Amino acid sequence: MSNTFHSFGLAEPILRAVTELGYRDPTPIQAQAIPVVLQGRDVMGAAQTGTGKTAGFALPILQRLMPHANTSASPARHPVRALILAPTRELADQIHENVRQYAKYTGLRSAVVFGGVDIKPQIAALRQGCEVLIATPGRLLDHMGQKTVSLAQADMLVLDEADRMLDMGFLPDIQRILHALPEQRQNLMFSATFSSDIRRLASSFLNDPQVIEVARRNATAENVEQRVYRVADLEAKRAAVGQLVRERQLAQVIVFTNTKIGAGRLARQLERDGLNAAAIHGDKSQQERLATLDSFKKGEIVVLVATDVAARGLDIAELPAVINYDLPYNAEDYVHRIGRTGRAGASGLALSLMTGEDERHHADIEKLLGRKLDAERLEVPAAARARERVRDRGEPGTERRARPARSSAPSRAREAPPPAVAGHSSDPFFFEPYVPAASSSDVDAPVMAAERAGARRPRRAVAALLGGGKKR
Ligand code: AMP
Repeated sequence: MSNTFHSFGLAEPILRAVTELGYRDPTPIQAQAIPVVLQGRDVMGAAQTGTGKTAGFALPILQRLMPHANTSASPARHPVRALILAPTRELADQIHENVRQYAKYTGLRSAVVFGGVDIKPQIAALRQGCEVLIATPGRLLDHMGQKTVSLAQADMLVLDEADRMLDMGFLPDIQRILHALPEQRQNLMFSATFSSDIRRLASSFLNDPQVIEVARRNATAENVEQRVYRVADLEAKRAAVGQLVRERQLAQVIVFTNTKIGAGRLARQLERDGLNAAAIHGDKSQQERLATLDSFKKGEIVVLVATDVAARGLDIAELPAVINYDLPYNAEDYVHRIGRTGRAGASGLALSLMTGEDERHHADIEKLLGRKLDAERLEVPAAARARERVRDRGEPGTERRARPARSSAPSRAREAPPPAVAGHSSDPFFFEPYVPAASSSDVDAPVMAAERAGARRPRRAVAALLGGGKKR
């Protein structure tokens, strides 16, 4: 394993950017992946967001592209040579931001295309030419259909968060994109989990890949303390969120809900309870979501209520806690959700709320983890519950129209109610569960290892500090 970025033999412009970003030592995934990618080999990487995997593939890709770097203004001199596919706009945007920073002294160009925003500026950007293109599959196919992009020279491919891409039904899109790429190419695939579907996909397009793994499969972070609270009903559940944030003095928390409508509603209620909260889900515009994320990163928002997909891939370091307002439909998402906290060796807290309706999901999670997650009763004071009851009469449910939030609330709390019915919408972005996050104790990047402020250690340890999860 290399201990410094210098030992990889990266070009000076790349090293300069890395140094400027404050990266001192490579993370474990970087130490393993960078030399292999530099050799031109295919990689199948088991790594979650937060492990530093983006630099793990982006730095060696840039290095391999260095011979093509040029200052020509002609777009023809800047064909797409590396394609990075990501499942969501947020992740694509984040990868692009990283690549832009890593490449800033190289003369190599990058661009990003994703759906949900005007396609014209993307066409203009593609026209300029870019050696590295980051894309979500659907929008990339749109561009391919309009012939605004050529992949004829894209002989490096990265499939990031491949498990989520499959969950979101992107397989046919991926296959179409693969057909448009040169046959001779280097393929890198990263996934938080390795289901049989992922293995099948891997064997269909990876060529003798080097397998790189930095966290155990389906393992929940050993440094995340997990507690499951049983509450009487939905009223108690809603009141419990604010109660937990206050009692445990959580500096910042992501609260996961299974539906976008539930996310918006809960955020409004928390706002009315005096907590600075905002929701991030598929009914928000891309701009709104990025702005909310930015406010959260700056600490202006204390509670970020998110659906799984909206939260997927978000690079939020130092998160002291997550709360599962609902237990996820898909047990694997539990692992992904709680991986948002307890990163890089710091301790984290994962609190889950359940009523009778979550019973089945609870059993599924225990099955996946291969161990018990005992639920304890959480008493929610009658007064708090009564408040929820009053609200229930005024606050619209899934089928009624939303009442505007109180005037002092920030505008983000005044969002219109989502138009669809609760639960499933036809756009998977809206309800699909979230993904993973790193949190393995073997990740030791100094920047990521900052101690979390505000996450008070609960009084008693729970037996649920999970070790190895079951392989799927
Ligand atoms: P990723 O898993 O790629 O989303 O990276 C998670 C975070 O770690 C990002 O904010 C990166 O900028 C940061 N990071 C990546 N590599 C390193 C490193 N070697 N040292 C410090 N921070 C890093």
